[in-house]
Amino acid sequence: MGREFLNLVDISEAHRIIRNLFKEIYHPPRMEKVNLKNAYGRVLAQDVKSPIDLPPFNRASRDGYALKAEDTFHASEDNPSTLKCIEVIEAGDIPQKKVKRGCCSRISTGAQIPEGADAIVMVEYTEEDDNILIYRSAYPGQHITPKGSDILRNDIIAKKGSILSPEKIGAISAAGISKVPVIAKPKIGILSTGNELIEPSNDQTPGKIFDSNSHSIAAAVKNCGCEPKILGIVKDDYKELSKAIREGVLECDILITSGGTSAGAGDMLREVVQDNGEVMIHGISIKPGKPTLIGKVDGKLVFGLPGFPVSALIIFDVLLRPYLMELSGKTPLGYHTIELPLAHRLHSSKGRIHYALVKVKNSKVYPILKDSGAIASLADADGYIKIPKNVEILEEGSKVKVSPFLPYEC
Ligand code: AMP
Ligand code: MG
Repeated sequence: MGREFLNLVDISEAHRIIRNLFKEIYHPPRMEKVNLKNAYGRVLAQDVKSPIDLPPFNRASRDGYALKAEDTFHASEDNPSTLKCIEVIEAGDIPQKKVKRGCCSRISTGAQIPEGADAIVMVEYTEEDDNILIYRSAYPGQHITPKGSDILRNDIIAKKGSILSPEKIGAISAAGISKVPVIAKPKIGILSTGNELIEPSNDQTPGKIFDSNSHSIAAAVKNCGCEPKILGIVKDDYKELSKAIREGVLECDILITSGGTSAGAGDMLREVVQDNGEVMIHGISIKPGKPTLIGKVDGKLVFGLPGFPVSALIIFDVLLRPYLMELSGKTPLGYHTIELPLAHRLHSSKGRIHYALVKVKNSKVYPILKDSGAIASLADADGYIKIPKNVEILEEGSKVKVSPFLPYEC
Protein backbone atom coordinates (compact mmCIF):
# COMPACT_ATOMS: atom_id res chain seq x y z
CA MET A 1 0.00 0.00 0.00
CA GLY A 2 1.04 3.65 -0.41
CA ARG A 3 2.86 4.97 2.61
CA GLU A 4 2.14 8.64 2.08
CA PHE A 5 0.28 10.60 4.74
CA LEU A 6 -3.45 10.75 4.42
CA ASN A 7 -4.69 14.29 3.88
CA LEU A 8 -3.00 16.59 6.37
CA VAL A 9 -5.57 18.17 8.64
CA ASP A 10 -5.15 21.45 10.43
CA ILE A 11 -5.16 21.69 14.19
CA SER A 12 -8.75 22.89 14.58
CA GLU A 13 -10.01 20.00 12.46
CA ALA A 14 -7.89 17.60 14.53
CA HIS A 15 -9.46 18.99 17.71
CA ARG A 16 -12.94 18.63 16.25
CA ILE A 17 -12.34 14.98 15.35
CA ILE A 18 -10.76 14.14 18.72
CA ARG A 19 -13.51 15.93 20.67
CA ASN A 20 -16.17 13.98 18.78
CA LEU A 21 -14.35 10.68 19.32
CA PHE A 22 -14.15 11.28 23.06
CA LYS A 23 -17.85 12.16 23.14
CA GLU A 24 -18.83 9.14 21.08
CA ILE A 25 -16.67 6.58 22.89
CA TYR A 26 -16.21 7.78 26.45
CA HIS A 27 -19.40 9.55 27.40
CA PRO A 28 -20.78 9.39 30.07
CA PRO A 29 -17.74 8.73 32.29
CA ARG A 30 -17.59 5.56 34.35
CA MET A 31 -18.11 5.78 38.08
CA GLU A 32 -16.76 3.80 41.01
CA LYS A 33 -17.03 3.93 44.79
CA VAL A 34 -13.86 4.45 46.75
CA ASN A 35 -13.08 4.45 50.41
CA LEU A 36 -12.56 7.95 51.76
CA LYS A 37 -9.02 6.90 52.69
CA ASN A 38 -8.20 6.67 48.98
CA ALA A 39 -10.34 9.56 47.80
CA TYR A 40 -7.89 12.45 47.96
CA GLY A 41 -7.64 14.18 44.58
CA ARG A 42 -10.44 12.12 43.05
CA VAL A 43 -13.41 13.75 41.30
CA LEU A 44 -16.91 13.32 42.69
CA ALA A 45 -19.28 11.64 40.24
CA GLN A 46 -22.40 12.61 42.23
CA ASP A 47 -23.40 15.19 44.82
CA VAL A 48 -22.69 13.96 48.34
CA LYS A 49 -25.54 14.69 50.78
CA SER A 50 -25.35 14.50 54.53
CA PRO A 51 -27.41 11.73 56.13
CA ILE A 52 -27.31 13.55 59.48
CA ASP A 53 -27.52 16.95 61.14
CA LEU A 54 -24.15 18.31 62.14
CA PRO A 55 -23.47 18.78 64.92
CA PRO A 56 -25.82 15.95 65.76
CA PHE A 57 -26.69 17.60 69.12
CA ASN A 58 -26.44 21.05 70.73
CA ARG A 59 -22.74 21.21 71.47
CA ALA A 60 -20.53 23.14 73.87
CA SER A 61 -17.93 25.26 72.10
CA ARG A 62 -16.04 26.17 75.30
CA ASP A 63 -15.07 24.56 78.58
CA GLY A 64 -17.23 26.00 81.34
CA TYR A 65 -20.60 25.69 83.01
CA ALA A 66 -23.86 24.96 81.23
CA LEU A 67 -26.61 26.94 82.91
CA LYS A 68 -29.73 29.01 82.43
CA ALA A 69 -28.70 32.44 81.08
CA GLU A 70 -31.32 34.15 83.22
CA ASP A 71 -29.50 32.94 86.34
CA THR A 72 -26.53 35.13 85.34
CA PHE A 73 -28.23 38.30 84.14
CA HIS A 74 -27.02 40.35 87.10
CA ALA A 75 -23.73 38.58 87.62
CA SER A 76 -20.57 40.70 87.78
CA GLU A 77 -17.06 40.62 89.28
CA ASP A 78 -18.41 42.21 92.45
CA ASN A 79 -21.65 40.37 92.58
CA PRO A 80 -21.31 36.80 91.25
CA SER A 81 -24.23 34.44 90.82
CA THR A 82 -23.98 31.34 92.93
CA LEU A 83 -25.07 28.07 91.31
CA LYS A 84 -25.04 24.45 92.39
CA CYS A 85 -23.06 22.07 90.17
CA ILE A 86 -25.13 18.94 89.57
CA GLU A 87 -23.06 17.02 87.00
CA VAL A 88 -19.76 16.86 85.13
CA ILE A 89 -20.19 16.27 81.39
CA GLU A 90 -17.14 15.31 79.32
CA ALA A 91 -17.04 15.16 75.49
CA GLY A 92 -18.75 11.93 74.44
CA ASP A 93 -20.90 11.69 77.60
CA ILE A 94 -24.68 11.70 77.55
CA PRO A 95 -25.94 14.27 80.07
CA GLN A 96 -28.05 12.63 82.77
CA LYS A 97 -29.47 15.61 84.60
CA LYS A 98 -31.73 18.45 83.63
CA VAL A 99 -30.39 21.91 84.50
CA LYS A 100 -32.92 23.87 86.53
CA ARG A 101 -32.88 27.42 87.90
CA GLY A 102 -30.05 27.83 90.39
CA CYS A 103 -28.11 24.85 88.99
CA CYS A 104 -25.37 24.27 86.46
CA SER A 105 -23.33 21.41 84.99
CA ARG A 106 -19.60 21.47 84.39
CA ILE A 107 -19.10 20.87 80.66
CA SER A 108 -16.17 20.28 78.27
CA THR A 109 -15.80 21.58 74.72
CA GLY A 110 -17.51 19.20 72.30
CA ALA A 111 -19.88 17.74 74.89
CA GLN A 112 -23.65 17.61 74.54
CA ILE A 113 -25.57 20.43 76.26
CA PRO A 114 -27.79 19.10 79.03
CA GLU A 115 -31.51 19.64 78.88
CA GLY A 116 -32.61 22.89 80.49
CA ALA A 117 -29.32 24.75 79.93
CA ASP A 118 -29.27 27.51 77.32
CA ALA A 119 -25.81 29.06 77.75
CA ILE A 120 -22.24 28.37 78.78
CA VAL A 121 -20.07 30.61 80.88
CA MET A 122 -16.40 29.98 80.26
CA VAL A 123 -14.52 28.41 83.12
CA GLU A 124 -12.22 31.46 83.24
CA TYR A 125 -15.13 33.58 84.52
CA THR A 126 -16.08 31.22 87.30
CA GLU A 127 -14.71 30.03 90.60
CA GLU A 128 -15.26 26.74 92.31
CA ASP A 129 -16.18 27.02 95.96
CA ASP A 130 -18.70 24.84 97.73
CA ASN A 131 -20.86 26.13 94.94
CA ILE A 132 -19.89 27.67 91.62
CA LEU A 133 -19.43 31.43 91.49
CA ILE A 134 -20.26 32.97 88.11
CA TYR A 135 -18.68 36.37 87.50
CA ARG A 136 -20.12 37.22 84.09
CA SER A 137 -23.57 37.36 82.65
CA ALA A 138 -24.41 35.14 79.69
CA TYR A 139 -26.90 35.52 76.86
CA PRO A 140 -29.09 32.63 75.70
CA GLY A 141 -27.18 30.55 73.15
CA GLN A 142 -23.76 31.71 74.35
CA HIS A 143 -20.99 29.21 73.40
CA ILE A 144 -23.53 26.68 72.17
CA THR A 145 -23.32 25.37 68.60
CA PRO A 146 -26.89 24.35 67.79
CA LYS A 147 -27.70 20.95 66.31
CA GLY A 148 -27.63 21.11 62.50
CA SER A 149 -26.07 24.58 62.39
CA ASP A 150 -23.07 23.32 60.42
CA ILE A 151 -24.81 20.91 58.05
CA LEU A 152 -28.47 19.97 57.91
CA ARG A 153 -29.58 16.46 57.01
CA ASN A 154 -29.85 16.20 53.18
CA ASP A 155 -27.64 19.27 52.65
CA ILE A 156 -25.16 18.88 49.80
CA ILE A 157 -21.70 18.69 51.38
CA ALA A 158 -19.70 18.36 48.18
CA LYS A 159 -20.88 18.86 44.62
CA LYS A 160 -20.60 16.50 41.67
CA GLY A 161 -17.49 17.38 39.68
CA SER A 162 -15.58 18.79 42.63
CA ILE A 163 -12.10 17.54 43.38
CA LEU A 164 -11.81 15.92 46.77
CA SER A 165 -9.58 18.23 48.76
CA PRO A 166 -8.62 17.69 52.43
CA GLU A 167 -11.41 20.15 53.37
CA LYS A 168 -14.10 18.27 51.43
CA ILE A 169 -12.87 14.92 52.73
CA GLY A 170 -13.10 16.37 56.24
CA ALA A 171 -16.71 17.50 55.76
CA ILE A 172 -17.75 14.19 54.20
CA SER A 173 -16.23 12.11 56.96
CA ALA A 174 -17.80 14.42 59.59
CA ALA A 175 -21.16 13.36 58.17
CA GLY A 176 -20.27 9.72 58.79
CA ILE A 177 -19.76 8.79 55.14
CA SER A 178 -16.91 6.39 54.43
CA LYS A 179 -17.31 5.69 50.70
CA VAL A 180 -17.78 8.19 47.88
CA PRO A 181 -18.79 7.89 44.22
CA VAL A 182 -15.96 9.14 42.02
CA ILE A 183 -15.18 9.21 38.32
CA ALA A 184 -13.23 6.04 37.51
CA LYS A 185 -9.71 6.80 36.38
CA PRO A 186 -9.50 6.08 32.66
CA LYS A 187 -6.88 3.42 32.00
CA ILE A 188 -4.41 4.48 29.34
CA GLY A 189 -2.16 1.89 27.70
CA ILE A 190 1.24 3.11 26.50
CA LEU A 191 3.22 1.35 23.80
CA SER A 192 6.61 2.37 22.43
CA THR A 193 7.51 1.20 18.96
CA GLY A 194 10.90 0.93 17.32
CA ASN A 195 13.60 -1.67 16.64
CA GLU A 196 16.16 0.64 18.21
CA LEU A 197 14.46 0.85 21.61
CA ILE A 198 15.53 -0.87 24.82
CA GLU A 199 14.29 -0.52 28.39
CA PRO A 200 16.20 1.96 30.57
CA SER A 201 16.87 -0.91 32.99
CA ASN A 202 19.02 -2.68 30.35
CA ASP A 203 22.71 -2.11 29.70
CA GLN A 204 23.58 0.28 26.93
CA THR A 205 23.78 -1.61 23.63
CA PRO A 206 25.39 -0.43 20.35
CA GLY A 207 22.86 1.07 17.97
CA LYS A 208 20.10 1.11 20.56
CA ILE A 209 18.53 3.91 22.55
CA PHE A 210 16.64 3.85 25.81
CA ASP A 211 12.88 4.16 25.62
CA SER A 212 12.06 7.50 27.22
CA ASN A 213 8.62 8.10 25.72
CA SER A 214 6.94 5.34 27.74
CA HIS A 215 7.99 7.04 30.93
CA SER A 216 7.40 10.66 29.97
CA ILE A 217 3.98 9.81 28.52
CA ALA A 218 3.04 7.73 31.59
CA ALA A 219 3.85 10.70 33.82
CA ALA A 220 1.87 13.04 31.54
CA VAL A 221 -1.09 10.63 31.65
CA LYS A 222 -0.97 10.54 35.43
CA ASN A 223 -0.84 14.29 35.48
CA CYS A 224 -4.22 14.31 33.69
CA GLY A 225 -5.80 12.22 36.45
CA CYS A 226 -5.71 9.02 34.39
CA GLU A 227 -4.06 5.70 35.17
CA PRO A 228 -1.16 4.84 32.88
CA LYS A 229 -0.22 1.29 32.04
CA ILE A 230 3.15 0.89 30.34
CA LEU A 231 2.76 -1.99 27.90
CA GLY A 232 6.39 -2.08 26.81
CA ILE A 233 8.37 -1.87 23.61
CA VAL A 234 7.24 -3.35 20.29
CA LYS A 235 9.41 -3.90 17.22
CA ASP A 236 8.61 -2.30 13.87
CA ASP A 237 6.97 -5.51 12.84
CA TYR A 238 3.47 -5.70 11.43
CA LYS A 239 2.46 -8.86 13.26
CA GLU A 240 3.97 -7.90 16.59
CA LEU A 241 2.45 -4.43 16.49
CA SER A 242 -1.00 -5.76 15.48
CA LYS A 243 -0.94 -8.19 18.38
CA ALA A 244 0.20 -5.55 20.89
CA ILE A 245 -2.46 -3.08 19.76
CA ARG A 246 -5.27 -5.63 19.80
CA GLU A 247 -4.27 -6.75 23.31
CA GLY A 248 -3.76 -3.17 24.44
CA VAL A 249 -7.25 -2.00 23.50
CA LEU A 250 -8.74 -5.00 25.28
CA GLU A 251 -7.33 -4.05 28.66
CA CYS A 252 -7.27 -0.24 28.36
CA ASP A 253 -9.72 2.56 27.58
CA ILE A 254 -7.31 4.37 25.30
CA LEU A 255 -4.07 3.29 23.71
CA ILE A 256 -1.23 5.75 23.17
CA THR A 257 1.65 4.65 20.99
CA SER A 258 4.80 6.50 20.05
CA GLY A 259 7.04 6.10 17.04
CA GLY A 260 6.39 4.51 13.69
CA THR A 261 3.75 7.04 12.71
CA SER A 262 5.54 8.53 9.70
CA ALA A 263 5.36 7.43 6.13
CA GLY A 264 8.76 5.62 6.14
CA ALA A 265 9.48 1.99 5.31
CA GLY A 266 9.59 0.82 8.94
CA ASP A 267 6.55 2.82 10.00
CA MET A 268 3.79 0.30 10.55
CA LEU A 269 1.22 2.03 12.68
CA ARG A 270 -1.04 3.35 9.98
CA GLU A 271 -1.29 0.01 8.21
CA VAL A 272 -1.89 -1.86 11.46
CA VAL A 273 -4.61 0.50 12.69
CA GLN A 274 -6.24 0.56 9.27
CA ASP A 275 -6.30 -3.24 9.05
CA ASN A 276 -7.62 -3.67 12.60
CA GLY A 277 -9.95 -0.72 12.73
CA GLU A 278 -10.11 2.75 11.27
CA VAL A 279 -7.71 5.67 10.77
CA MET A 280 -9.30 9.09 11.25
CA ILE A 281 -6.24 11.28 11.04
CA HIS A 282 -2.79 10.63 9.67
CA GLY A 283 -0.77 13.82 9.53
CA ILE A 284 -1.48 17.19 11.09
CA SER A 285 -0.08 20.44 9.75
CA ILE A 286 1.82 21.43 12.85
CA LYS A 287 5.46 21.49 13.87
CA PRO A 288 6.58 19.39 15.60
CA GLY A 289 4.13 16.56 15.39
CA LYS A 290 3.15 16.28 11.75
CA PRO A 291 3.31 12.48 11.86
CA THR A 292 0.46 12.02 14.34
CA LEU A 293 -2.13 9.30 13.89
CA ILE A 294 -5.58 9.04 15.36
CA GLY A 295 -7.70 5.98 14.88
CA LYS A 296 -10.01 3.44 16.43
CA VAL A 297 -9.48 -0.25 17.10
CA ASP A 298 -12.19 -2.33 18.72
CA GLY A 299 -14.16 0.81 19.47
CA LYS A 300 -11.25 2.29 21.47
CA LEU A 301 -9.20 5.35 20.64
CA VAL A 302 -5.67 4.68 19.41
CA PHE A 303 -3.47 7.74 19.50
CA GLY A 304 -0.18 7.47 17.65
CA LEU A 305 2.31 10.08 18.82
CA PRO A 306 5.47 10.81 16.85
CA GLY A 307 8.61 9.09 18.17
CA PHE A 308 10.69 12.21 18.76
CA PRO A 309 10.44 12.80 22.50
CA VAL A 310 9.80 16.55 22.20
CA SER A 311 7.15 16.04 19.51
CA ALA A 312 5.49 13.28 21.51
CA LEU A 313 5.08 15.37 24.64
CA ILE A 314 4.04 18.55 22.87
CA ILE A 315 1.41 16.72 20.85
CA PHE A 316 0.25 15.01 24.01
CA ASP A 317 -0.12 18.38 25.70
CA VAL A 318 -1.87 20.07 22.79
CA LEU A 319 -4.14 17.30 21.52
CA LEU A 320 -4.64 14.84 24.35
CA ARG A 321 -4.30 16.55 27.70
CA PRO A 322 -7.46 18.70 27.43
CA TYR A 323 -9.58 15.64 26.62
CA LEU A 324 -7.94 13.33 29.16
CA MET A 325 -8.43 15.94 31.87
CA GLU A 326 -12.05 16.29 30.89
CA LEU A 327 -12.49 12.52 30.88
CA SER A 328 -11.02 12.18 34.35
CA GLY A 329 -12.97 15.21 35.58
CA LYS A 330 -9.86 17.28 36.24
CA THR A 331 -10.94 20.25 34.13
CA PRO A 332 -11.65 22.46 37.17
CA LEU A 333 -7.89 22.65 37.58
CA GLY A 334 -7.94 24.53 34.28
CA TYR A 335 -5.20 25.48 31.90
CA HIS A 336 -3.07 28.51 32.35
CA THR A 337 -0.95 30.53 30.01
CA ILE A 338 1.46 33.24 31.06
CA GLU A 339 2.02 36.24 28.81
CA LEU A 340 5.61 37.50 28.77
CA PRO A 341 8.02 39.22 26.33
CA LEU A 342 10.37 37.23 24.14
CA ALA A 343 14.04 37.59 25.16
CA HIS A 344 15.30 37.45 21.58
CA ARG A 345 14.08 37.15 18.02
CA LEU A 346 12.69 33.80 16.90
CA HIS A 347 12.29 32.37 13.41
CA SER A 348 9.50 29.99 12.57
CA SER A 349 8.57 28.04 9.47
CA LYS A 350 5.66 29.43 7.49
CA GLY A 351 2.68 27.26 6.62
CA ARG A 352 2.42 25.19 9.81
CA ILE A 353 1.58 26.10 13.38
CA HIS A 354 4.83 25.85 15.30
CA TYR A 355 5.12 24.89 18.98
CA ALA A 356 8.46 26.02 20.36
CA LEU A 357 9.93 24.98 23.69
CA VAL A 358 10.84 27.88 25.94
CA LYS A 359 12.46 28.66 29.24
CA VAL A 360 11.26 31.50 31.45
CA LYS A 361 13.91 33.50 33.24
CA ASN A 362 13.63 36.95 34.86
CA SER A 363 10.13 37.38 33.40
CA LYS A 364 11.41 36.86 29.85
CA VAL A 365 10.83 34.01 27.46
CA TYR A 366 13.89 32.23 26.02
CA PRO A 367 13.26 29.90 23.09
CA ILE A 368 15.16 26.62 23.32
CA LEU A 369 16.68 26.14 19.91
CA LYS A 370 17.22 22.40 19.59
CA ASP A 371 15.56 19.81 17.41
CA SER A 372 12.66 17.65 18.49
CA GLY A 373 14.93 14.71 19.26
CA ALA A 374 16.77 16.54 22.02
CA ILE A 375 15.45 15.21 25.28
CA ALA A 376 17.58 17.54 27.41
CA SER A 377 15.78 20.52 25.90
CA LEU A 378 12.53 19.05 27.22
CA ALA A 379 13.88 18.62 30.69
CA ASP A 380 15.14 22.19 30.60
CA ALA A 381 11.93 23.70 29.22
CA ASP A 382 9.31 25.44 31.35
CA GLY A 383 6.69 25.15 28.63
CA TYR A 384 6.07 26.04 25.02
CA ILE A 385 4.67 28.83 22.89
CA LYS A 386 2.42 28.54 19.86
CA ILE A 387 3.46 30.44 16.76
CA PRO A 388 0.65 30.91 14.21
CA LYS A 389 1.19 29.41 10.78
CA ASN A 390 1.44 32.74 8.94
CA VAL A 391 4.17 34.14 11.25
CA GLU A 392 7.80 33.74 10.18
CA ILE A 393 9.54 35.99 12.68
CA LEU A 394 8.73 36.95 16.24
CA GLU A 395 10.70 40.03 17.26
CA GLU A 396 12.53 40.43 20.54
CA GLY A 397 10.20 41.93 23.11
CA SER A 398 6.99 40.76 21.45
CA LYS A 399 4.50 39.32 23.92
CA VAL A 400 4.02 35.56 23.77
CA LYS A 401 1.77 33.20 25.71
CA VAL A 402 3.62 30.40 27.46
CA SER A 403 1.77 27.14 28.11
CA PRO A 404 3.65 25.89 31.16
CA PHE A 405 4.46 22.24 31.83
CA LEU A 406 2.77 22.11 35.21
CA PRO A 407 2.06 19.28 37.55
CA TYR A 408 -1.74 19.24 37.81
CA GLU A 409 -2.10 15.95 39.56
CA CYS A 410 -3.47 15.95 43.09
P1 AMP B 1 9.89 7.52 14.60
O1 AMP B 1 8.73 8.41 14.90
O2 AMP B 1 9.65 6.10 14.90
O3 AMP B 1 10.38 7.75 13.20
O4 AMP B 1 11.05 7.98 15.58
C1 AMP B 1 11.60 9.28 15.52
C2 AMP B 1 12.77 9.41 16.44
O5 AMP B 1 12.32 9.28 17.77
C3 AMP B 1 13.83 8.35 16.27
O6 AMP B 1 15.09 8.96 16.45
C4 AMP B 1 13.55 7.37 17.36
O7 AMP B 1 14.66 6.63 17.76
C5 AMP B 1 13.04 8.27 18.47
N1 AMP B 1 12.15 7.53 19.33
C6 AMP B 1 11.09 6.79 18.92
N2 AMP B 1 10.49 6.23 19.99
C7 AMP B 1 11.18 6.61 21.06
C8 AMP B 1 11.05 6.35 22.46
N3 AMP B 1 10.09 5.56 22.90
N4 AMP B 1 11.93 6.92 23.31
C9 AMP B 1 12.91 7.71 22.83
N5 AMP B 1 13.07 8.01 21.55
C10 AMP B 1 12.22 7.46 20.66
MG1 MG C 1 10.63 4.36 14.57
